[in-house]
Amino acid sequence: MSVAQLASNTRAEKRDALVTQFRRYTADKLQIALFKHQADWILASDGFQLTGKPAHPHATTRFINIRNADTSVSRMGITERPKGPARVLADLAAYKAGKSWSGAFYLAGFAAVPNARVDLIGLQYQICTPEFDYLAEFLLSDRGLGLPYTRYHNQPKSGRMLIELKSTGARFECRSWEQKEMLKGQERDCYYFCEAYMLPGLSAFKSVSQNLRKRQGSAVFTTTADRPWVTVFHDRGHGQDPDFHDWHCTCGVHARENPYTFSQQEYNRDHPSKGGLMTRDQFAVAWEGKLGEYVGRVYNYQRGQLQFTPETHPAWWAA
Ligand SMILES: [Zn+2]
Repeated sequence: MSVAQLASNTRAEKRDALVTQFRRYTADKLQIALFKHQADWILASDGFQLTGKPAHPHATTRFINIRNADTSVSRMGITERPKGPARVLADLAAYKAGKSWSGAFYLAGFAAVPNARVDLIGLQYQICTPEFDYLAEFLLSDRGLGLPYTRYHNQPKSGRMLIELKSTGARFECRSWEQKEMLKGQERDCYYFCEAYMLPGLSAFKSVSQNLRKRQGSAVFTTTADRPWVTVFHDRGHGQDPDFHDWHCTCGVHARENPYTFSQQEYNRDHPSKGGLMTRDQFAVAWEGKLGEYVGRVYNYQRGQLQFTPETHPAWWAA
């Protein structure tokens, strides 16, 4: 192993430990309990996974507090992820399941890392707004950690969304994919892709992934599975393919798992068997967080670029 490689590994290990510790501190301090799907991918980034069982009653480390769909909190057991920390992470949960909030919580961990460099990337700047607002809330607000900063801009319209912390120099910056040339040659600890389905495809990630290499950084994709290309995370993120053991996919998360945003009225309004406006496939993706055979068939409610007709998609008219 070269000296450069050794230095890179050491920095990455230290960074990962700091991120994990600081995220736990934030959860304790702000009394945060994650939903199961949120914990699932965030734990994978830490090199852990849920055991699916309650924690040992005397456990002091191998547990995580999970917020259940009835808002109660359970202490669930965790164990090491056999293949180590995941570096490419996807949360493909349903609409309003709490993806942006947990994304911001994940990113808050980097606040403890000296000179951390984290980019939030959206098709346009405004797409980063939910995550960035939550992140500012976690890190800077009085209700959050109230950390001092040297720079804080939150102007999505003029493309200036940036937090730079005083104590560590950690910097979080929003970027627009439409101005992707700005991303070139920048060393990064993490890219967080907001509403990733809007991006042109995995090529978006590939074209910047070399910027993560030196720091052994992570890429996170939180998105509803609204476009076929996002199935790549599902195909690679469940451990079957040895070439992609550092990929992780969280999927199949029903909107009901977030009791704070779930609306039975909206659910019924969209439900196909209750006379709703969505097709069965659309409903499966948007409300039930389903993938598999569904996702490739659901193109039609995105901004009108991809049209469907009885000729191109006869199955939708067959029911
Ligand atoms: Zn999956």
